[in-house]
Amino acid sequence: MSGAAPRVAIVGAGPAGLFTLCALLREAPGASVDVFERLPTPFGLVRSGVAPDHQGVKAVVRQFERAFATDRVRLVADCEVGGDIPLSLLADAYDMVFLATGAPHARRLGVAGEDLPGVYSAISFMGWLNGHPDHASLQPRIGERVVIVGGGNVALDVARVLAKTPREMESSDLCAHARHLCGRARSITIVARGGPEATRFSPTELKALSRLEAAAFQVELPSGADRSAPVVAALAALETTPPAGATRICFRFGLTAGEAVGEGCLEQVRFQRADGSVEALDADMLISAIGQQAALAGSEAVHAVGWASGERGDIPASRAQALGVVRQALETMRPVPRQAARARLDEVISSSGAGYLDWAAWKRIDQAEISSAAPPRPREKLVSWAALRATARLHETNT
Ligand SMILES: Cc1cc2nc3c(=O)[nH]c(=O)nc-3n(C[C@H](O)[C@H](O)[C@H](O)COP(=O)(O)OP(=O)(O)OC[C@H]3O[C@@H](n4cnc5c(N)ncnc54)[C@H](O)[C@@H]3O)c2cc1C
Repeated sequence: MSGAAPRVAIVGAGPAGLFTLCALLREAPGASVDVFERLPTPFGLVRSGVAPDHQGVKAVVRQFERAFATDRVRLVADCEVGGDIPLSLLADAYDMVFLATGAPHARRLGVAGEDLPGVYSAISFMGWLNGHPDHASLQPRIGERVVIVGGGNVALDVARVLAKTPREMESSDLCAHARHLCGRARSITIVARGGPEATRFSPTELKALSRLEAAAFQVELPSGADRSAPVVAALAALETTPPAGATRICFRFGLTAGEAVGEGCLEQVRFQRADGSVEALDADMLISAIGQQAALAGSEAVHAVGWASGERGDIPASRAQALGVVRQALETMRPVPRQAARARLDEVISSSGAGYLDWAAWKRIDQAEISSAAPPRPREKLVSWAALRATARLHETNT
């Protein structure tokens, strides 16, 4: 790395982008960093994906907040790179650019009937109940017979949130418009394509299900399942959990989604077994939790990190990856004169009408959400683009 303090752009203020920011401030003291974020709010899936009852996980934002306490770090929110500002301009204007835009698009099941009312991707559904403004108008049909396709923790998150009672969700930040979903489901079937050993359910998240106030479990382990594998042992333990209430949570394996069927809305999901035979499950809601795809393509001029890099780890995994990416980027950085591009970019950012939001604007949203929540809720989220933008700009109308 040369002696000059680098000027850095990070695209995406989710955990990967903000762990990158924290690593940069440590590894390159003196660096000045602009963090570009498409939404009016920072924190990515920590705010809009992580389940509302996982407040411990969401507390990671406190360490990100500290990183914005220096005036060498600037948030440029409500600004879409690739839309409002070309990525190539950032590559010209900064010594280093990190792409941390996540993987916002759901992978599709690719089955007939996928667009029927009652069929949703986990990312839209969790985005809706978590107040992501892109999903605020989803208005999902909350079913009593729910099928969730997927073999990872996101499938477990969806099942847990649907199975919890209103009392169990009262200290969560579940959005007001979604609270009617609590305790509505009578049966929730989680279906994985492979065997139980091949799932990515974490034993800890499986165990959390066993503590639900009102659930009974059925786990259909294949006869040859390796019960010494931690995930299989955790599934088997669930089945011995005494039934505690009216919501039946069932785990099925070795079924591939084939078709969503219904007259005008979902009524049934058809699966194919390994032997080619078909099994139909009656359902009024189908959530597919089979992963996501990145949106913005990187280039050689940028360093991808987090889910934008193709990794699909959890939040701690982004932290470890960010540190390595930052160290490598600092080693290979070759500063060149960038005044012209920098001037062009500053003009774009400050041009009248651009209306990008800074950290102070986010704190106005944050304060408004916290102060309108009735304890023990931590916040009452603003969910529409209009409400978020208006609250962010409240000081302009007050002066
Ligand atoms: C439903 C769900 C629940 C999860 N629960 C947990 C959990 O309990 N614990 C855990 O450790 N992990 C959990 N994860 C995983 C965790 O959310 C990811 O590991 C992490 O969010 C990935 O971080 P990221 O920064 O790469 O992506 P993201 O969190 O998606 O952040 C990307 C950011 O980039 C912004 N962006 C996108 N495009 C642009 C653009 N063109 N210009 C500017 N900004 C842009 C987005 O708005 C977003 O803010 C969960 C994931 C999901 C989907």
